[in-house]
Amino acid sequence: MAKKQFKAESKRLLEMMINSIYTQREIFLRELISNASDAIDKIYYKALTDDNLAFNADNYFIKLKADRAGRTLTLSDTGIGMTKEDLENNLGVIAKSGSLAFKKENEAKEGHNIIGQFGVGFYSAFMVADVVTVISRALGSEEAFKWESKGADGYTIVPADKETVGTEIILKIKENTEDDNYDEYLEEYRLKAIIKKYSDFIRYPIKMDVSGR
Ligand code: ADP
Ligand code: MG
Repeated sequence: MAKKQFKAESKRLLEMMINSIYTQREIFLRELISNASDAIDKIYYKALTDDNLAFNADNYFIKLKADRAGRTLTLSDTGIGMTKEDLENNLGVIAKSGSLAFKKENEAKEGHNIIGQFGVGFYSAFMVADVVTVISRALGSEEAFKWESKGADGYTIVPADKETVGTEIILKIKENTEDDNYDEYLEEYRLKAIIKKYSDFIRYPIKMDVSGR
């Protein structure tokens, strides 16, 4: 499938993410958890008022799965999911609140230290991952799609299999370099500390499963 290009402004933000400094990186988890929580909010409120949707509070949770051997960190949610069009429109361009605020501010003061101050959004995944894969099935849809990107060179969207409604984000965690350690984002204690620091207020359970040594 042909690779699609990001819009120019998205590309700039992506490049900043890829070149981010160590102390900023951990906020990727805050951003992905906040998106997962937003997506669950959407289905949760729908279920509260829609008799056709079975309501069971146990169905709404976020799950983090780290595979140290395979170097993947997977964040799944039981939220409202995304259609193929949603994947295209929401992940291919920067048009959203947090990212937009970031971009505006950034025009005035170029620099690194501002990354932490804004909700830079989904693209922050590229601070710790060299490949980001999103598999999603939207509420009311029988089909699922896979969005995938290695960063600045664009993204692909292809059909995929997913049994349940919701979204799964698979981060291929970067290899360590002489100066940078990424292994820590596959460690339970570290992930728990980041969650405690930034996502303590999230209303849905955050489950965790770490494997592979
Ligand atoms: P923001 O959260 O400020 O809108 P993001 O860059 O974090 O910006 O996310 C962009 C959009 O992608 C979201 O608004 C949402 O529509 C979609 N999205 C991201 N993650 C998910 C998810 N886990 N489930 C459903 N939609 C998502
Ligand atoms: Mg967000």
